[in-house]
Amino acid sequence: MLWTIGLCFLLASSGISHPLSSHRRNTGPNKLLLISFDGFRWDYDRDVDTPHLDEMARDGVKATYVTPSFFTITSPTHFTLITGRYIENHGVIHNMWFNTTTLEKKSYWQTQFVNEYWDNGSLPIWITAQRQGLKAGSFHFPGTAATYQGEMVSVGEVEPPIYNYSNETVWKQNVDMVMGSWFRDMDLDFVALYFGEPDGTGHKFGPDSPQRRDMVRQVDRTVGYLRNSAKRHGLADRLNVIITADHGMSTVQRNGNVEEIVLRKIPNFSFSDLVFHLVDYGPTGMLLPKEGRLDKVYNALKGAHPHLHVYKKEEMPSRLRFSNNDRILPIVLWADPGYVINGYFPVQFNRGEHGFDNEGLDMKPFFRAVGPDFQKNLEVGPFDTVNIYPLMCHLLGITPEPNDGHLDNTRRMLVAPPPEEPKRSPSSVFIGIGAVGGFLVLVFFVLVISKVLKRGKTQKRIEDGDHKEDNTIIEHTNM
Ligand SMILES: [Zn+2]
Repeated sequence: MLWTIGLCFLLASSGISHPLSSHRRNTGPNKLLLISFDGFRWDYDRDVDTPHLDEMARDGVKATYVTPSFFTITSPTHFTLITGRYIENHGVIHNMWFNTTTLEKKSYWQTQFVNEYWDNGSLPIWITAQRQGLKAGSFHFPGTAATYQGEMVSVGEVEPPIYNYSNETVWKQNVDMVMGSWFRDMDLDFVALYFGEPDGTGHKFGPDSPQRRDMVRQVDRTVGYLRNSAKRHGLADRLNVIITADHGMSTVQRNGNVEEIVLRKIPNFSFSDLVFHLVDYGPTGMLLPKEGRLDKVYNALKGAHPHLHVYKKEEMPSRLRFSNNDRILPIVLWADPGYVINGYFPVQFNRGEHGFDNEGLDMKPFFRAVGPDFQKNLEVGPFDTVNIYPLMCHLLGITPEPNDGHLDNTRRMLVAPPPEEPKRSPSSVFIGIGAVGGFLVLVFFVLVISKVLKRGKTQKRIEDGDHKEDNTIIEHTNM
């Protein structure tokens, strides 16, 4: 009886959990192209005619917007796209590499080549794809130049140090190289492709400028060119395309309209209390105070400007997920939309900026997807960009690395969504316990009834009682 109950428990357990769904679908994985148009805010198609993006939405899926991770700046949020991890978990916490001992800082472009900055435990999807037998490429995507655990992307193109990010002719050449050479001739399964616009134009002229609207038209033409190029190269029916961005863009207030944030002007704050600082870089900043001066610096800055947020690293709001990493400095600063953080005096003259709180709508990028595995003419609600990574792994039929996203948040976009993965929620555990408990009660009653019947028969034959079977029943019910 004990063995039987044990077996039933196993059966009941297997009934409440499902075997892991196979990642490789019956139809065979299609190719996947991930495109980032840097700084393409979710609503940039609202004040510009975008016929090609509209057509793509009719042929595929459009999300209202997606939420990037915080700091909403280029390298960290791009690394979230290709690892599915929040910034504090993947460790690429800033566009700039820095060393608080030597006080050295490296620019965005130089940082591309600081290997240990990127190779910090999280693998970009191209490495995972290669390890599982696929062929992958990356064109200008942040993180392309680095080696991860001894492995590089097999086909990679890093932008030169001086590069015109907005030349439409070059964009078309890049598209043709990815479609013709990489996908068709070299038969790559996955490519990540990066465009530096409309970020550059959004910074220079602001998100509400006619120049930004022109650049969105250029992005739209490029999307049309890209879909045509896929058809010309015979890829259209076996290529999934995801187009998104790293962050949005927000207008900076200036010219005496507002009281700018200049740290030097704040009473009781002194740069001489710091070992190292990273400010004059849009709306975010990080400070490393000298030993014993953390509270002094913090108390001077906290509440000093109505649009400056000042937090000790360990007291950061948990929703921002920007605390739990050794690279994050002890004091974290960020400004409200409209403001940037200046150190000694104003040195930033961009009309548009990003880096702000990721809750603000201005920081939300767009999201579009089209291809054989996606539904048509479907608009879905917002989701976090960490969920794009598990979606891409599913599309490629590869097993994801540990990540902060989940396919459940995007599976409704798919033509043939896989079965839900097992969830060991408390309710299913209770159902399991209930099933086993119910079975034991049934066993109890069957045994009691059979005992009563047996005893009745026995008592008719023999005048003496036999208590052994009573003991047996107690044994079972105590299990
Ligand atoms: Zn960017």
